[in-house]
Order: sequence, then C-alpha cells, then structure tokens
Amino acid sequence: MMLYENMGVTAEGHFTFGGADTTELAAEYGTPLYVMDENMVRKAVRRFMDSMEKYYGGRGEVHYASKAFSCMEMCRIINSEGAGLDAVSIGELYTAVKAGFDVKKIGFHGNNKTDEELRYAVEVGVGHIIVDNISELERLEKIAAELGKKPSIMFRIKPGIDAHTHDFVKTGQIDSKFGFALETGEAFEAVKQAVACSNVELTGIHCHIGSQIFDIAPFEEAARVMIGFISEIKNKLDYEIKGLNLGGGFGIKYLDSDDPSPFETYMERVSKVVAGECERLGIAQPFIYIEPGRSIAAPAGITLYTVGARKEIPNIRTYVSVDGGMPDNPRYILYGSEYSALVANKANEERSEKVTIAGKCCESGDLIGENMPLQHAESGDIIAVLATGAYNYSMSSNYNRLQKPAVVFVKDGASRVAVKRETLDDIIRNDI
Ligand SMILES: *Cc1c(COP(=O)(O)O)cnc(C)c1O
Repeated sequence: MMLYENMGVTAEGHFTFGGADTTELAAEYGTPLYVMDENMVRKAVRRFMDSMEKYYGGRGEVHYASKAFSCMEMCRIINSEGAGLDAVSIGELYTAVKAGFDVKKIGFHGNNKTDEELRYAVEVGVGHIIVDNISELERLEKIAAELGKKPSIMFRIKPGIDAHTHDFVKTGQIDSKFGFALETGEAFEAVKQAVACSNVELTGIHCHIGSQIFDIAPFEEAARVMIGFISEIKNKLDYEIKGLNLGGGFGIKYLDSDDPSPFETYMERVSKVVAGECERLGIAQPFIYIEPGRSIAAPAGITLYTVGARKEIPNIRTYVSVDGGMPDNPRYILYGSEYSALVANKANEERSEKVTIAGKCCESGDLIGENMPLQHAESGDIIAVLATGAYNYSMSSNYNRLQKPAVVFVKDGASRVAVKRETLDDIIRNDI
C-alpha cells in the first residue's frame, strides 16, 4: 500500500515518513509543511553514483539538478555525498556557493543567462558553463577575457528527440528554446566558432531530452545521436570533445500504478550504447555526466496539510480543503500532475472515498488533485501528499500573500528545520 519503502504506519494508525510520526511533525512545526527524508536523498544519490562506478568504470559524475529542490541544507547533503550540482540561475548558484559546495563540480545552465550570471559563474570558478546560444558564447568570451579566466564550456544540443510523450518521436524538437539544433548544422557551426575562441575551452556537449520519462529507449537514442556528433566533430575538425552530459529526466512513482524503469537499468542500457557507439566510430569514450533532479528529490519529500472545510456536492464531488494549495504545489494547476495522498492520522483505514483536495486560494483551479482515493477526511485531520520533494518548494510562490511553509528534514525519526516558515513580516519585507 505504501508508495516508498521509508513510509509506514504506527500502531495507532499514524503515517510515518523516514521514521518520524507525521502527525507529530504537523503538531510540532505546523502546517502546511514540507518534509524531506535525508536518508532517501542520500540513497538515491548513492544509487546513481554506484551505477556510474559500475557501468562507466567511475568515468563520470552525477550532478543533482538543484532546480528540483534547492536550499542550503540540500546542497550540503549532496556535496557530502561527493556528487556535483546543476544550477540554472545565479540564485541556485549562490545558494550552493554559500552552502560551501565544491564549485568545481557545478555545471551552470540556463537558456538566457544574464551578464551578471555569467560573470558570477566565472568568478566563483564553476566546473563548466553549459552554453545555450551564440550570443551567450560571445558575451562569455568577453567576460572571461575581462576577468583573465578561461572557463570550461559545454554546448547544449537539441538532439532532435522529443521524449515528453510516452512514445518518443524524432521531430519537432527544432522548436525548442533550449540549445543548438543538430539537424540544421547550427550546432556544428557553433562548435567551429567555439574551437576558435581563446578565452573559453569547449570540453563537452550536453543534452536533456525531457522529464518524468519512463522509457529508456529515448535516452539510448539521445546517447547515440550525441556520440555521433562527437565523432563528426573529431572527423571534420580534428577536435576531441572529452565530456558528454546526458542530462536528467528519469521518471518516478507518483501513483501506485506508475512503473518507471529503475535507474540502474537506465545506466546499464545507456552505457552499452555509449561504449558500443564509441567503439564502432573509433573514438575515445567521453567522461559522462548525468543530471537527475526529480528522481533524487521527489520521492524524498511529502507535504503535510490540515483539513479545514469539507463540502459534499451530491452527485458531483466532495471537496476536502487544505491550508495550502497552488502556492506550495503549483503542479496540478500547471500540468495536471497527479499525486497520491492519505490521511496521516487515519493511515490504517481504507482509502474509501474519492475526493478533490482543494487549496485555499481564490482560483477554482487551485487543486492538489481530483478523484484522489482518500480515507474519510474531516476538519482537523492531517493530509499527507506524497512524492512532493521535487518542483514543489522550488516552484512555490506567495500567491494570495500566503507564507511559504517551512522545510523540515527527517533522519531516522529525528527532525530539524532546514528552511524556516515565512512570517507575516517576510511577506512585507520588500514593500516600501
Ligand atoms: C530540469 C533539468 C534536469 C533535471 O530534470 P529531472 O527531470 O528533474 O531529472 C537536468 N538537466 C537540465 C539541463 C534540466 O533543465
């Protein structure tokens, strides 16, 4: 019945997460509350790193995509595991730097980086900057010269694979705001230009084909296309691309019915394509980077809410309203994303009803989900929404001037605050 192995139920029927009684967490810290299980984060990172060791002989790095969930404590945990980080803005980079992250293991992303962001990334000395377009290359070249540095760069490539749908199709991807297109020769021209630059060093190419992908085939296809491009660069320009960054996008279980491939299987199958294609084309095997975000953070997090109003509309639906909503979880209103939930103080009861869990904002679309199997929920009950560790806190807002919830980490049953709940004074902090 439980979605993940760190979930359980006490003798009184209370839902436990990472060894902690969630009803006690709600009582101690208040709701809404984000709860992250440190052991789950560490385990996921280790599984990726162990697979990198096993299938690539350690010739690779795992970079956690911090846009999934970033705060200083998360950066410390990732850093202490020896993994790297992917940052997509000066804010994410600053968070990592302030947390003492090993900057050499940071890849800096973004399709429209500002000069301020590029300058900061060069100054702190990130491992590499993933350059998205020619204007960025030219601006970076200037900034690096001014600072007397020679940053390592990778190019973001559109490999022509659209994996957002279940059956991937190799069309339409020219229409993406990210990166250089392969088909049009744009990527090759960019490589030619970068090779001639004296203040940046092109060391790698990068692709990221989508998110919440369950199939391995599109990843294999992307690896094949990217190795082909490395070979083309070698043959035509006599230039060796040493790094291949294959991005993230590994799917996770949100519902009991979800059945993503284990990421070990992904690592095994994609590594075979990488090794096989390199051999076939007679090129050296590149150093591999992967950038899992959701698959590290999402299963490690839950959100706790307190139920307020319950409205039964006969023959239509039942609304169970909670004290948060789209400001702390905008994924339903954005994408129609589905979650599993349970009543944390009735976790040993049947999920006998199907309800709509609604938020407290002035928007009809402010829902956590519809048709959600749930125990009979009444005012004062605690609802736990599962697998909210990614793209919830990081996408949260102050809509309706709600205060952002606290983030609490649990570890073997003990808990600590990692991000404080916002106060009313935080709400007016920047108002003049
Ligand atoms: C978002 C993103 C990721 C992480 O994606 P997940 O689906 O969370 O694994 C990795 N790399 C890049 C460049 C991204 O934009």
